[in-house]
Amino acid sequence: MDNSLEKKYQELVEENKALKEQIKKLQKDQKIYDSLIVKNNCYFIEKENGDMDGPFCIRCWDKRKKLTRMTIMDSPDGSKTMATCHDCTFIAYLPMFD
Ligand SMILES: [Zn+2]
Repeated sequence: MDNSLEKKYQELVEENKALKEQIKKLQKDQKIYDSLIVKNNCYFIEKENGDMDGPFCIRCWDKRKKLTRMTIMDSPDGSKTMATCHDCTFIAYLPMFD
């Protein structure tokens, strides 16, 4: 191969690699998306053993496809359970856990 073809070939190899990465990410996002359950303004994922994993921030996922685990705490007056996102500060109120 002459020099310009060699260069073109390298570019295509790089581009192909980047596209493959992108597809992988989209497939992963789609897989997460398919398993998300909306509940109390949060996302949960049902695990294979039937347990619920979460809550995850609804805003982080919808805006940036980022799955951010929320922190659970009591509301200041103790009457509710709050889930807060440390990333975007979104707050959701959950029914009291037993
Ligand atoms: Zn968030």
